Order: sequence, then structure tokens, then C-alpha cells
Amino acid sequence: MKIIRTINYAQKLTTKLREQKKIIGFVPTMGYLHKGHLSLIKEAKKKSDIVFLSIYVNPLQFGPKEDLSRYPRNLKRDEMLCRRAGVDYIFYPEDKIMYPEGYSTYAVVENLTRGLEGKFRPGHFKGVTTIVLKLLNIIQPHYSVFGQKDAQQAAVIKKMTEDLNINTKIIISPTIRETDGLAMSSRNIYLTKEQRADAPYLNKALEYAKRKIQLDNYNKDIDFLRSQMSKLIKSRKTATKIDYISFNDYNTLEEIKSFKNNKKKSILISLAVRFGKVRLIDNIIIKR
Ligand code: AMP
Repeated sequence: MKIIRTINYAQKLTTKLREQKKIIGFVPTMGYLHKGHLSLIKEAKKKSDIVFLSIYVNPLQFGPKEDLSRYPRNLKRDEMLCRRAGVDYIFYPEDKIMYPEGYSTYAVVENLTRGLEGKFRPGHFKGVTTIVLKLLNIIQPHYSVFGQKDAQQAAVIKKMTEDLNINTKIIISPTIRETDGLAMSSRNIYLTKEQRADAPYLNKALEYAKRKIQLDNYNKDIDFLRSQMSKLIKSRKTATKIDYISFNDYNTLEEIKSFKNNKKKSILISLAVRFGKVRLIDNIIIKR
């Protein structure tokens, strides 16, 4: 396994690999890898001859009050995990080569980015789509793997690749959880012991709603479900603020206010909750 730090080298290499008819799989990450990331690598390996993983904490997708400077990093540990998982190349660029002085071009996906995370993190998706587009141009992968954990991000990136005719297939891989249901996230290490004990209630609330909807064949009132979920989460005292609990059409991300006329749709239930300074997101899908 090799670590690549320059765009020039990465592009020459991927061009050569493509000429050799190698199938390239790509997993973009911000590092501090966990089993969720490893599952994406596994998915990429299934489809490809060569797997690239990028580690880049992209400043453009963090708001001024967010956790950019304290985002966890550990290249040595990530390197070891990647080697074990069978990654071929880690792309590990510095800020100054991704955004050199005078940088002024951005990718923006409209509509899908308006609600959910887009509403609470203005500018976040502009940062995400810009960096992902740059990485796709550098790595030129046949397959790019993203996690369902960031459902809106996956939908936005899929839309960008369709709209801009980017020649890569987007694969969306299921959320990997701790045994108590907490979705794995690099940010989980910030949780205190008490917060960590309360955090699985996010998944419990999502599972509760899914069960109720299925048991009652989509006849439940969404506001009632939301308030029950909210009660369950607020029953944990370290859950300090619920940013949103939202019901959306899984395909269009349009908000669903009632199941009437929406019974045939796949539903995305998603939420964002703050535990003090730590903001966690999670979701569940009811596929139709
Ligand atoms: P991050 O390093 O958090 O930016 O995530 C990099 C990629 O890993 C994204 O496509 C995430 O959606 C995905 N990911 C993060 N956590 C999980 C998880 N628990 N299960 C599956 N994929 C995940």
C-alpha cells in the first residue's frame, strides 16, 4: 500500500491504471477510520481491482462554529487499518494543494441540499460536492462508495454525478452500528461516558417509528410519531438539542407530512441531535 500526496502523481497513476484496464474503486473519507469505513472498503474491493481511499478533512464543508480544528486525526492508525483491509492507495493531500491561493470554483447541487443537514449547516454541501467532484476528477474511479449513514450526502452526490455526467457509479452502502445500535462515527470518540450511554436512543427512536409505521400499515400520524420519538430522545438527559426529526421521500428527499397518498414511497426517517458540543446524525429507511 502506498500513500500519495500529490494530485499530479495520483492522476498519472489512475490514468495508467485505466489504460491497463484495471477497475478502480474509491472510498472518500475524512479519516479516523472505523468499521463503517471498512465496510465501504469491502464493498469497493468486491467491484474493483484497485482500491483508493482518500483521507482529507475538507475545511470547505465545515461551518465557522463547527469542529474542524478538533476533528479527530490519526494517520498511522488509519494506515494500518487500510493495509489490513486491502486498500492499494491512500490519497492524502494537504489543504494547500486542494485549495491553492486564488481557488475560486465550486460545485453546487440545488433543491436536494435545501432541507435536513443543508438547513442546519449552511454551505456544508457546497463544500462536500466541491471536494467530491475534485476527488473524482483526480482518482477517476469506476466505482465510488458512500455510506447510507449520510443519506442526504449520498443522494446529493448521486445527483451531482448524474447531472454533470461524471463517469463513475455511485454505490451506497448500509450503516454499520455498534452492538447497542449507535451508528459508528469518527465523532463518537468525543462523547463522554454518559453521552455515549444515551446516544443509542437515536437508533431506538428511529426503530420505534419504523416499527409503528409498518405495524399500522402507514396509517400513523407523522406529527404524533415525531413527538413520540422526540420524547424518547429527550428522556435522556445528555441529549441537549434536537435539530430535526424528519420524514422524507427517500428518492426525492421531499418532506412527507402525512402518509396519505405516500404509502407506496420508500421513506427516509432522519434526525440530528446534539449531545452538548457533539452533533450526531442517523437515519433509517423503510423500503417499498
Ligand atoms: P466520513 O469520514 O465521516 O466523512 O465518512 C466517509 C464515508 O464513510 C461517508 O461515505 C460516510 O457516509 C461513510 N460512513 C460513515 N460512518 C458510517 C457508518 N457507520 N456506516 C457506513 N458508512 C459510514
